[in-house]
Amino acid sequence: MPLITGTPTPPPPVLPSLRLGRHTVTAIPDGSVQLHPLRWLPESTADDWAGDNASLLDPHGFIEAPIGALLVEYEDSALLIDTGFGPHDIPAADTIDTIGALRGGALPHALRRTGRTLEDIDTVAFTHLHDDHVGWAFRSGPAGRFPFSRATFVASREEWADWTMPPEVSVPARTAGHGEEIFPGVTARLTPGHTRGHTSYVIDTGEHRLIAFGDVFHTPAQFARPDWPVSMDTLPEQAVRTRYELLPELTRPDTLAFGIHFGQGQLGRVVEEDGALRWGPHSEL
Ligand SMILES: [Zn+2]
Repeated sequence: MPLITGTPTPPPPVLPSLRLGRHTVTAIPDGSVQLHPLRWLPESTADDWAGDNASLLDPHGFIEAPIGALLVEYEDSALLIDTGFGPHDIPAADTIDTIGALRGGALPHALRRTGRTLEDIDTVAFTHLHDDHVGWAFRSGPAGRFPFSRATFVASREEWADWTMPPEVSVPARTAGHGEEIFPGVTARLTPGHTRGHTSYVIDTGEHRLIAFGDVFHTPAQFARPDWPVSMDTLPEQAVRTRYELLPELTRPDTLAFGIHFGQGQLGRVVEEDGALRWGPHSEL
C-alpha cells in the first residue's frame, strides 16, 4: 500500500449543517488521517475491503478519515465537541504504522465561516483526550492566551484522570458523568473502550436525537462487524461491548449521528436494509 504526502483536501464550500429543533449542528473540518484498514482493523481481510467497502478507501488504499469537531449552537450559546488535531502536517513516514499521513489546521478558519471564532465557544466537550481530538484546545497563542479563552472544558472523570494537563495551561475543567447535561439539551453518555473514559454526546430535542459517538466507530464498515477489534482501542473487549450496546440506539428511527472520522458524510444515520446496517444520509430521517 503506497504511502502519500501532500496538501490536505480543502473543506467543502458549504459546511454540512443541520437544524434539530432549536439546536443547529455543523461539522467543522480540521484535517484528515489515513487509517490503514488491515492494521486498524486487524481481523478484517483484503476481501472485506473489496466489495461495498472499497468505496470507503482513498485512491491509495487507506480509509479516508476526516478530523474535526461538531459545533452545536443553541440560542446564543455554542458548544464544540472535540477540537481537531491542530496546525500540524505529519507525513506518513513519520506516523505510527496503523495510519498514513495525519494533518490538521483548518478548524479556526472553518469555524469563522459559521460566524464564530474560538473565543465565542462557551463549552468544549471532549469525547476523549487523544491528539486528534484535543489539537486546538491546549495550544497557547499570542501573549500566552489560550484559543478557547471563554470556554469550560468537559470530559469524563476517567479521561481527566488519564490525562496530564500541560503545565502552562490553566483552564476551567469540568467532569461529566453518565447522563449529565453538559449544555442545554446535550447529555454525556459514557461509551468506554476506545479509551477508558470515552464519552459520546446526545443532543435530544424531544422529537429527534443526534448522537456524536466519537471513536466508538471509525468507519461505517464496522456497523456490519462491531465485533472487529480496533488496534487503537485501549480496552478492546469493552469497546466491542460498547459498539453492540450503541447500535440499537443508533438505529432508532428518530436518531441521527455524527461520525467524526467518517469520510463520506459525518452527519448521517444508521439504516437497516435487508437485515444489514449501513450509513445513510441524514435526509432519510
Ligand atoms: Zn480519533
